[in-house]
Amino acid sequence: MPKKNLYIETYGCQMNEYDSDRITAALDAVVTDDPKRADVIIVNTCAIRDKADQKAFSSLGKYKHIKAKNPDVIVGVAGCVAQLYGDSMLKRMPHLDFVLGPRAIPKLPEIISDIERKKIRTVETSYDIEELFDVEPYHKAGEVTGFVSVQQGCNKRCTYCIVPYVRGDEVNRALEDIITETENLVNKGVREITFIGQTVNSWKQKGYKFGDLLRAAGDIEDLERIRFTTSYPRDITKRMIDAMKDVPQICPHIHLPVQSGSNDVLSKMNRTYSREWFVDTVNRLRDEIADFAISTDIIVGFPGETDKDFEETMTLLEEIRFESAFSFIYSPRPGTPAAEISGDECVEKEVASTRLAQLQQRQSDITFENNNNRVGTIEEVLVEGPSKKNENFVTGRTTQNRITNFMGPQALIGSVVKVKITEGLQNSIRGELVV
Ligand code: SF4
Repeated sequence: MPKKNLYIETYGCQMNEYDSDRITAALDAVVTDDPKRADVIIVNTCAIRDKADQKAFSSLGKYKHIKAKNPDVIVGVAGCVAQLYGDSMLKRMPHLDFVLGPRAIPKLPEIISDIERKKIRTVETSYDIEELFDVEPYHKAGEVTGFVSVQQGCNKRCTYCIVPYVRGDEVNRALEDIITETENLVNKGVREITFIGQTVNSWKQKGYKFGDLLRAAGDIEDLERIRFTTSYPRDITKRMIDAMKDVPQICPHIHLPVQSGSNDVLSKMNRTYSREWFVDTVNRLRDEIADFAISTDIIVGFPGETDKDFEETMTLLEEIRFESAFSFIYSPRPGTPAAEISGDECVEKEVASTRLAQLQQRQSDITFENNNNRVGTIEEVLVEGPSKKNENFVTGRTTQNRITNFMGPQALIGSVVKVKITEGLQNSIRGELVV
């Protein structure tokens, strides 16, 4: 039977990118970038913010006309929006053939074959825990970096977050399976892997903790670099820090969401740490691991956030000087405790927008200053591909995760080279190849 042509649109985090590659592998499909030529069209959605889920609906709407012209094309929705709205999506969108929750990917081949044979529309949001990690993702030839999922779901209950409701409680993958998938990727030419999980560093399995997983990965031959994301602050342990110090392949960078600099807001968010505890932890990481870099996530306009609370977030930027920060306006998500808060507690839209702009401007200046501080240093860069802007340049990332562009031949793709940094830019750095 010929392979199916799959058109897949992906929104959201690395977890969704990884899941889209699993969907591709589950269907053993050929990916096409033209939805009109597809046998199967899937939108893999994100529900983390209101805007993201509206985007999913409008994106799905685009395929109505394709389905009208070609009723044989199968149109489906996957990801967190699918899990959240389930059945109601079929009612709302008559051109949809299936709704697939993020944990139900292993069931996709059966779903597609049922649709083809019986012409029935399907909603599948249940899953079998034994099968959860069954499908390994499709890997595009030539890619030098790859993700490996170590965990699904989340046991924390941040009051603003919908993830535990759509992705379920934390399930950790077996150490041997993680290592085998990583080794398979390395055998295909991957030089850097990123372990992914909602709270990746809470991973534990049969007495092993996250630090042990990092050490096991460090023993994989020809694996040049190890990263992981997203870390939960409270799950940083001595065992993890020790592994980061001892295993040279682990990059000295952590993405550590702080969300707010105000203790009142952190408490309302149920983040389980204080500002002081977070700062101490960052200082500990910086003291123990040489040349350490930290990026973060911040939410502004959380219900009840006062001018003083926001000011505390701004002073935290100065105190920590993150390498970069993803920042967003709080977006109420249905079914979460924070979404129940209404009235005076809610921060007005204009106030939240002004705060976001102020925060982003300051962080952008700090990022630029940090990038400039690298000028004159010699950094190790894993070359990932040709530069988008200049055909004589290649692009890669330093161990601290800075995007670095420099003049060099494409034959360098896949190698780690030394680059002398000559210029710090807003979102990247430039340098010269050291030969
Ligand atoms: S740690 Fe909090 S923000 Fe992160 S996925 Fe879990 S509940 Fe959501």
